[in-house]
Amino acid sequence: MKITDLMYDLGVEDRLFTQGPLAVATPIDGSEIARVAPDDDAEIDAKIRFAEKAFQSWRKVPAPRRGELVRLLGEELRAHKNALGRLVTIECGKILSEGLGEVQEMIDICDFAVGLSRQLYGLTIASERPGHHMRESWQPLGPVGVISAFNFPVAVWSWNAALALVCGDTLVWKPSEKTPLTALAVQSLLERAAQKFGDAPEGLMSVVIGGREAGERIADDKNIALVSATGSTRMGRDVGPRVARRFGRVLLELGGNNAGIVAPSADPDLALRAVCFSAAGTAGQRCTSLRRLFVHDSIYDDFVPRLKAAYQSLPVGDPLKEGTLVGPLIDKDALERMQDALARAKEQSAAVAGGERLEGEGCYVRPAIAELSDHEGVVNEETFAPILYVMRYENLEDAIALQNSVTQGLSSCIFTRDVLEAETFLSATGSDCGIANVNIGPSGAEIGGAFGGEKETGGGRESGSDAWKAYMRRQTQTVNYSTALPLAQGVKFDI
Ligand code: NAD
Repeated sequence: MKITDLMYDLGVEDRLFTQGPLAVATPIDGSEIARVAPDDDAEIDAKIRFAEKAFQSWRKVPAPRRGELVRLLGEELRAHKNALGRLVTIECGKILSEGLGEVQEMIDICDFAVGLSRQLYGLTIASERPGHHMRESWQPLGPVGVISAFNFPVAVWSWNAALALVCGDTLVWKPSEKTPLTALAVQSLLERAAQKFGDAPEGLMSVVIGGREAGERIADDKNIALVSATGSTRMGRDVGPRVARRFGRVLLELGGNNAGIVAPSADPDLALRAVCFSAAGTAGQRCTSLRRLFVHDSIYDDFVPRLKAAYQSLPVGDPLKEGTLVGPLIDKDALERMQDALARAKEQSAAVAGGERLEGEGCYVRPAIAELSDHEGVVNEETFAPILYVMRYENLEDAIALQNSVTQGLSSCIFTRDVLEAETFLSATGSDCGIANVNIGPSGAEIGGAFGGEKETGGGRESGSDAWKAYMRRQTQTVNYSTALPLAQGVKFDI
C-alpha cells in the first residue's frame, strides 16, 4: 500500500517515514508501509527541554491570541480532513467514515478551544477582612506530556493539545508505536499553522517516536508538569505512580468494560442498531466499546436472536472500501487475545456465535456474541476486540449492581422508555461510570462533555466542560487595598 502521496499532501518530509529501524504496518493487509526512527534518550530529553523553553514565552502570549493558533490548526485540519482521515484508516484500520470522523472530532475540539481561549474564567471571592478582596485565577501549567493509544491515534492528542495550547502550555507527544505516521502528519499540520500564526515559539510541540520506554522517560521527567496518558490500565498502573513519585500531575484515560441494559420498554429496533454499532463497530477497539449486555428476561428470546442475525450480516473487510462496517483488528496479538478470551468463555459454558477469523491478509474476525448464564471470569476483563457478553436479568437493581461490579468505570447505557428506570440509572444509586447514556450506546462521545471514567479507568477528564482546568495552575489571590493589616479569623499579632 502506497502512502507516500498522502504523507506529501500532509507535508511530511520523506526522510521521516522512509528511514529507520521501526517498521510501520497497516492492519488492512499486514504489509509494511513505512519506516520510522525512534528517538533515543538524548533526543527525548532535548525535546522536553525545548518544550520547557518554549513554555517560558508561550505562557506570556494572551490567551485569545493563543486561541488564534488553535483556530489556524482547525483550518489546516479542515483543508486536510480527507488525507488525514484516510491515513488514520490505513494506520489503525478503522473504517473510512470513522477515520474522517476522528479528524472531524479534532476540528470540533479546536473550535471549542478557540471559544475557550476567551473564557478561562476565574472567580472573585468575598473576603472576611475589610479592605481586601480575593480571587481565584488560572495560570499556564507547563509542558504537557501526551501518551496516546493506537485506537484513537489523533483525536486523543487533539483533546489534550487544543486545550493545553490555549491554556498556555507546550506539548511533547508520544503516540503509540503502532501509529507514528498520523502523529508525524499532525505535527506537520501544526507547524504549518504555527508558520501562519507568525510568532509561535519553536518547540511548542514535538513528537517523540518510541514505545513504552519513551513513555516512561516522559513520565519520569520533572519538567513535564502534566502527563496525560491514554491506554490500558496496565500502562496507567505504571505511569500513575511514576508521576506521583515526583509530585507531577497526571491525567489517566484507561481501559473500560462498558455495559448496556436493554429494559422491557426499550425500542427494540433502536437498541439493536445501537448495540451493533457500539459492540462491533471499530472492531470492538474503542475504550467505550460495548462489552457486556444485560437483556431483560421478558424480551431476551426475541431480542438476542435478532441481534445474532444482525451480527451475521455485518460487512467485515477492507476498511477503505465503501459499505464495510467492521475493519480488521490491529495485529496478531489482538487476534490471539480475542481467541483466548472466547476459549475461556466457552470453558465457562458460554454459547458463542461468531468470533472466527475470516479470510484475508489482515486480522479480520466475525464479531462474536457470547451468551453467559453468570457474570463471572472472563466477562470482568477488557478484551480489546469485538466480543459481546450477553446475560439475562430480572430486576433493574441487580442489572445495575452487576454493571457496576467490574473494576473499570468508563461508559454505560440503558435502553428504556420508562422514565423511572432511566432516572434511576442516572441517579446516585445508578451507573457508577464517568459516562451514562439513555437510549444510545456507550460509545461515540461528543467533544462538548468531559470525557473519562472512574475506578481503574483512571479518573481523568478530557475534552469539554471544565476539563481545561487540568491544564492550568489554580491560584488563590488576596489583595489588601487598605492601610490596615487585619488578620483572618480575628488573630492578633501586634508588634
Ligand atoms: P497500551 O497501554 O498498550 O499503550 C498506550 C500507550 O502507552 C502507547 O503509546 C504505549 O507506548 C504507551 N505505554 C505503554 N506502557 C507504558 C509505560 N509503562 N509507560 C509509559 N508509556 C507506556 O494501549 P493500546 O493497546 O495502545 O490501546 C488500547 C487500550 O487503551 C485499551 O485498554 C483502551 O481501553 C485504552 N484506551 C482508553 C481510552 C480512554 O479515553 N479511556 C481511549 C483510548 C484507548
